[in-house]
Amino acid sequence: MKKILNYINGEFKAPLLDQWLDNYNPSTGKIYSLIPNSSTKDVQLAYEAAKQAFQSWSNTPLQERSEILSRISSLIIENIDTLANAEAIDNGKPLTLATRVDIPRSSSNFQFFSHAITQFASEAHESIGLDAINFTLRQSIGVVGCISPWNLPLYLFTWKIAPALAAGNTVVAKPSEITPMTAYLLGDICTKAGLPKGVLNIVHGLGNTTGQAIIEHPDIKAISFTGGTATGAHIAKTAAPMFKKLSLELGGKNPNLIFADCDYDKMLSTTVRSSFANQGQICLCGSRIFVERTIYDKFKIDFIQRTKSLKIGPPLDSTTEIGALVSKSHIEKVKSYIDLAQQEGGTVLCGGEYVTIKDHEDGYYLQPTVIEVTDINCKLTQEEIFGPVVTIMPFDNDEEALALANNVRYGLSSTIWTNNLNRSMFLAKHIQAGIVWINTWMMRDLRTAFGGVKDSGVGREGGQEALRFFTEPKNVCIHYK
Ligand code: NDP
Repeated sequence: MKKILNYINGEFKAPLLDQWLDNYNPSTGKIYSLIPNSSTKDVQLAYEAAKQAFQSWSNTPLQERSEILSRISSLIIENIDTLANAEAIDNGKPLTLATRVDIPRSSSNFQFFSHAITQFASEAHESIGLDAINFTLRQSIGVVGCISPWNLPLYLFTWKIAPALAAGNTVVAKPSEITPMTAYLLGDICTKAGLPKGVLNIVHGLGNTTGQAIIEHPDIKAISFTGGTATGAHIAKTAAPMFKKLSLELGGKNPNLIFADCDYDKMLSTTVRSSFANQGQICLCGSRIFVERTIYDKFKIDFIQRTKSLKIGPPLDSTTEIGALVSKSHIEKVKSYIDLAQQEGGTVLCGGEYVTIKDHEDGYYLQPTVIEVTDINCKLTQEEIFGPVVTIMPFDNDEEALALANNVRYGLSSTIWTNNLNRSMFLAKHIQAGIVWINTWMMRDLRTAFGGVKDSGVGREGGQEALRFFTEPKNVCIHYK
């Protein structure tokens, strides 16, 4: 059986205690590789390699750093088939999605930050009347920790690593133990691109042991984390006494507000995507759909028909639109929410059942599910399900739509469908979310700030925000009189 290894100091290494975890293929439900169950000792080894590499990497000329990152970006594209295949097998997502989105985006993360670092300016202020000038040095932090989830494995892993490295830090990173494969393959790519030893160290293992060792490490001074809200709260609590810098990108329960005056066809196609892309396992999916009452019945019929027509199948089949969910425990959790519907006064309008796929009988397949709800405070409308399940409900006016959108503890993203400019601006201003999409969904520009409010996180990633996070500003004041 294939063994995935840690990538420490530019070399692939077995975990020091020789303990291993099973890695499942979600489309078959079978174990297909073993991954290191890394201990504190492995994290310490990774930390020491990163510490050793820091002095040199942080002083490497910007152009050279930029070229290395750019080569990593190119090599990701050169290896797109291998990486997309690995991602689809490891995660259960359709290969077509991994090829079209996940892997190109992972490459773009490196390409973008390889350029962004060369344009990263800091402020200067002339203190008029004091004959002084103040300027800011933006310095690398040191060894930083990057911890990422399983839903967009390489995409989110590189979204953290690329700016951290661009800013001159060295990294100890942990991908989710559920989807370690593409992070493992990235190690080899980094070596081939000429990334010096120890600059990036990838340690595999469980969150509450390997991840915990990273967040508890007293000399890893910044942690960039994407994952669940409860884990984020735990990390914040652990890191607080050590005054670590934290970026926390957490859960979402995003509203999708649909008004009668929208471009209906565009809205319908996009809403199918925003509900069920990646089996609904994207933190930005619009899981709470609210529709203006005048078009509610029509929307219901059309949306159900489109949802039912989605092709569920093995990830490697090029016609598959809905692949497998990521793990057995996750599919069971998602199903348990669907089973709550009746008890919570909801009606399952379509889907709701496990699916058996020929030759993949033990795979984790679930029908995309639409649930009509009446209670805006029930678990189905309040808790993050993170699967192919959406709730729908009608509303009568802008104020009600806004109140429904904001009636949740999360505030990551939101989508508004209307051709009324005043309405869209009113809602964009008052909606409690870090991201507002108007007449689109998940259209990303890597220069923009990305992140959430309320229980969806603290801090922003993307563009200058990421480079600011991964640097320490130092104010220098010169009195020139
Ligand atoms: P988790 O919070 O369970 O895990 C995220 C990562 O943290 C994993 O690598 C996990 O390791 C690790 N981890 C778990 N416990 C600890 C710990 N004590 N110390 C350090 N690291 C730890 O999230 P999921 O992997 O289940 O991902 C799904 C969640 O991610 C959803 O809530 C989703 O909304 C959110 N998400 C947010 C995004 C955003 O940008 N806001 C984007 C994408 C997803 P392991 O897997 O080994 O347990």
